[in-house]
Amino acid sequence: MDVDEFRAHAHRVVDWMADYLRDVGSLRVLPDARPGELRNALPAEAPATGEPFERIFADFERLVMPGMTHWNHPRFFAYFPANHSPPSILAEMLTATMGAQCMSWLTSPAATELEQVTMRWVARMLALPEGFTGVIHDTGSTSTLVALISARDRAAGVGSDRQLRVYASKEAHSSVAKGARLAGYGGDCVRTIATDAEFAMRPDQLAAAIAADRAAGITPACVVATVGTTSSTAIDPLPAIGEICRRERVWLHVDAAWAGAAAILPEVRPILDGIEHADSFFFNPHKWLFVNFDCSAYYVRDVDALLRSFALTPEYLRTAQDAEVVNFRDWGIQLGRRFRALKLWFVLRSYGVEGLRAMLREHIALGHELAQWVAAEPHWEVMAPTPVGLVCFRHHPPALVDDEAALTTHNRAIVERLNRSGQMFLTHTTLNDRYAIRLVVGQRCTQREHVAHAWRLLREAAAAV
Ligand code: PLP
Repeated sequence: MDVDEFRAHAHRVVDWMADYLRDVGSLRVLPDARPGELRNALPAEAPATGEPFERIFADFERLVMPGMTHWNHPRFFAYFPANHSPPSILAEMLTATMGAQCMSWLTSPAATELEQVTMRWVARMLALPEGFTGVIHDTGSTSTLVALISARDRAAGVGSDRQLRVYASKEAHSSVAKGARLAGYGGDCVRTIATDAEFAMRPDQLAAAIAADRAAGITPACVVATVGTTSSTAIDPLPAIGEICRRERVWLHVDAAWAGAAAILPEVRPILDGIEHADSFFFNPHKWLFVNFDCSAYYVRDVDALLRSFALTPEYLRTAQDAEVVNFRDWGIQLGRRFRALKLWFVLRSYGVEGLRAMLREHIALGHELAQWVAAEPHWEVMAPTPVGLVCFRHHPPALVDDEAALTTHNRAIVERLNRSGQMFLTHTTLNDRYAIRLVVGQRCTQREHVAHAWRLLREAAAAV
């Protein structure tokens, strides 16, 4: 493909992209795909000779598109969204076009410095206390793994065989247990801390667990507090947890993967009260700040501790500027790095802080409105507080009162019916061992009409199953 051909195809692709953004709401959210369908439709070998772009693109439309789940559909209510936006997409096009690998300052000075600038801007938007320095990782799982490795090395010193412990609430994300395992904490390394009636970590239980471990000769290394748990967006009480961590000299890592974005709203910022106690903190702009996946904003207080764990400079990577610049390859796991700051910069400038706040405010208000509709409807119940965009609820018909197994079967049937319909995509969780439907209002294009439509479909499905 020469440059002229590229130009022609790119124009066609951009037209396709604009049509997609305009029409995505008319597609099925979840595809009607069966396992193996695409695999069986494609040849076993790569083509021996090149094919014309028209044929490749036709197969993309004919074979690939029908198997896609549309994460940026206005009735995508599942998991937590992976949002994008037109300015972010444009930045991704430029990033892909330059194809830069931004491991060191020298390998793209502007990429490093734009990352520093955007991370400072975001810190100010979140009103983070002075002393946090930011870096962009790929995902929240990586941000937590980086924190767990830093905490491990601070608690034990590299190479020590002391038994270390990580603490997180029973509602913490699975990336904590996975990260602890990958960071080599060993066997029974994560202590699960009980939660209160609103699914937030109980500080008294945390303090007791740390005391019991110290008495048993185990070294407490890291507490992971969650601001916005995956199941129900519960907010762990950072001020009390932070005081315990300070007193016990334990690394406090704060996982605000989803809800952290909402802290740019002054009225929601109290969810980060106590963040001054944290050693590290992250949230994912790729979840709720309209930046394409992937982009996880990681903030750390003690950059030297980070560098002690991650910096390693072989001769072939040395540059003349090393003493005066930041080389982000030393701030995380991977050497090669994508230019992620560009899409963040485009989004921040394109919407402005007030524009972003308006979108988040709207989502949060719609979540509250849905929770009110559910609470007001006979035989439906809201199952957890709704601080930031996620509503957990279930249908509770009189015939099934107190029959948990039947309630699970009934509500699961509602979710499966709706997902099969292609009209919307929902997921579920369990709260206190009870099945709960999760509906997240946080997709950029989601408006009141989409939430109202979803609520109508839910009631129809409940009557039908
Ligand atoms: N932490 C929380 C609270 C999450 O909800 C998630 C994902 O939804 C993660 C961490 C992991 O994020 P990522 O998919 O970026 O690894």
